[in-house]
This record gives sequence, C-alpha cells and structure tokens, in this order.
Amino acid sequence: MKVTYPHMGNMALGVKTMLEELEVKVVLPPPITKKTLTLGTKYGPEFACLPFKINLGNFIEAYELGADTILMAGGTGPCRFGYYAYVEQEILRDLGIYYDLLVLEPPERNILEFITKLKKLTGNKPLPQVIRAIKKGFFKIKAADEIEKKAAFFRARELTKGVTDRVWQEFLRNLDQAKNEKEINEAMNMAKESLASIPVDLTRKVLKVGVVGEIYTLLEPFTNFNIERHLGNLGVEVCRTIYLSEWVNDHLFMGLFRNFSRHEEIVREAAPYLCHFVGGHGQETVGGVKYLKKQGYDGVIQLLPFTCMPEIVAQAVLPEVSEQLDIPVLTLVVDEHTGEAGLLTRLEAFCDLLSFRKQRGGNYEKRLISGC
Ligand code: SF4
Repeated sequence: MKVTYPHMGNMALGVKTMLEELEVKVVLPPPITKKTLTLGTKYGPEFACLPFKINLGNFIEAYELGADTILMAGGTGPCRFGYYAYVEQEILRDLGIYYDLLVLEPPERNILEFITKLKKLTGNKPLPQVIRAIKKGFFKIKAADEIEKKAAFFRARELTKGVTDRVWQEFLRNLDQAKNEKEINEAMNMAKESLASIPVDLTRKVLKVGVVGEIYTLLEPFTNFNIERHLGNLGVEVCRTIYLSEWVNDHLFMGLFRNFSRHEEIVREAAPYLCHFVGGHGQETVGGVKYLKKQGYDGVIQLLPFTCMPEIVAQAVLPEVSEQLDIPVLTLVVDEHTGEAGLLTRLEAFCDLLSFRKQRGGNYEKRLISGC
C-alpha cells in the first residue's frame, strides 16, 4: 500500500509523520503548481469548488509517482466536502487511474473512534504505536502553527524584506526532518531564536488584518496566492481564525485539548447574525469578524472559492456585520481564473483604505468591499 493524500498548507508534514510512524509507505503529491490546477480543472466538473479540482490534480500527479491508495478526511453537513473522495475516485477511474480509497470520517463521540479507525486502516497496529503516531503528527502541525503566528508579527516589522520568509522555510525543513518530540522542540527553539534576531522596527505603526473564510483557501498558500506573505510585505500583521492544529483538535480529537482552540468562542460571536450551522466554516466566518473586531483588528478579509456554499451564506450576512461593528470587510473569491496581480491590487487598495481610516480615527469609511 502506497498512500497519498491532498496538500493543504502544512498538513502534509503532520500526516506524513503519523503514517510513517505507523510503517505506512507515503507518496506525497508534488507541491501544487499550475500543472496541478490545470489537471484538476481539465478533469473536474466545471462548477466544483477549487479545492476539489486541486485535490484531483494532486491525486493524478501522485499516481504518476506510484501511489495506489488515497487517504482523505470525510465530512458531514451542507457542503460538498463529504462527497469529494467518492466523486474524485469515480473521475479517476474514468481516466484509467485505479486507487483504493480510505476515508476517515470525523468521529461522532470521542477521539477513541478516530484512533480505532486509524488502527484498522493501518492493519491493526498496536494501540500505543497508533497513539504515538497521532501525537507526533499533531505536535508537528501545532509547532508549525505556533511559528507561523510568530512569523506574522516579524514579517510586518522586518527591516529587510524576505528575512522572515527565509527563517520560516528553514524551520519547515527542520520540522520535516524532526524524528521525535525533542527534535520538534529543537526546531521550534531554533526558529524562535532566528526570528528574535531579525532586525525590526518596533515603532512602525502596523495594520492588523484578520483573514476568515473557507478552511482550504485559508490554509493553502497556492490557493490564496500567499496572501499572508503579501500582506506582511505591505507591513500588515495577519491572523487567521482557523489554524490547522485547532481544526484537528476540534474535529478529529473532539476537543481533547481543553482551552486550545478558539472555535467555540468564535462560533458564539456569530450570534445574532448567523445562529446556526451552514456547513463548512460559514458560521466561523461571521463570528470571526466580531471576534477580530474585539481583538482590535483594523479590517477583515474573507476568502472563499467560487461556488463555496457555506461562505456564500456568510458573505450575504457580512455587510450588516461590517456596518454594525464598524469594521471594513473585503471579500475575495478565488477560482482557477483568478490572477495574482488583480488580487494584489485589491489588497493594496484595502490596506490603503485601512491606513487612511486609522489616521482619521477609525471612523472614516465603514463599508463592505466585495471583489471576485
Ligand atoms: S466548504 Fe466550500 S470549498 Fe470547501 S468543500 Fe464545502 S463548498 Fe467546497
């Protein structure tokens, strides 16, 4: 069995570690490129959401490298994610690409369900080995999230552009090679020291912008055109409402680590604007705007793939949230036709508006800006 799975931000680091600890052979798809997107767009249904198409491209490329089994998360609720794996398998079969499919549905009651499923999938490995594998994978994505948050602070204030990015890339390489918890901690400590030694301008008045929206688009830099790096280079400190380790803790570990995730708090903030689950992260998107406003953020960017149902619902609610809370919200819709230059122009215009507004005492412009 040679297992592959789709890329989504730093997820590959953790899943690879977990599977290798369980003695499963992993074949990672090559990093996402235009070719991946072209393959997914060519063979995927036209109105499928962008993550579906990129996943499909990942699987076609991984097959060429020898993968024979797909590992995917499942999903429930009013969005297409729950069908992804099965529809993709059918499309691949039509192309003459035969994969076995392992779908890890989210547990309904507790983490034991998840552990049992993983144990079965990996040929009934001993329980301590499965737990050790899960822990190691989780520590890696948690470490990546922690350093990514710190990097956002330094990127907005660095005196020489690109230094923070180099530290981040070096950290990812070290983290990938880390074999145990001790080495993960060493990689983290080294990254923290490197970040702390970056020459920064602490007097710079940076803007603080939160990014909310659909999870794949938030986490995968190829899909969001590296929005966090671009904003950082514009002198903006960025925070997301979704980090992978929080999502894993909430949805796969059923909140095992207490006080680790902000998910419940963010969802609570969605009231009275959106009081029920609409699939995906639509409710978190609405709650995220209020949450970020309370944290003192200057503006919010909503990111979504074209045709994403939960985010379209959230988008419809955001004008009122923006108006009532007096915080500008920019909506950016991405698909295979989106160009980086156009997206950058919108980001720059949004940041100009936020700076102007800040200089005028925060009450100059209160309007939602929409773009696709
Ligand atoms: S949340 Fe949106 S983009 Fe993600 S699978 Fe559902 S519909 Fe597609």
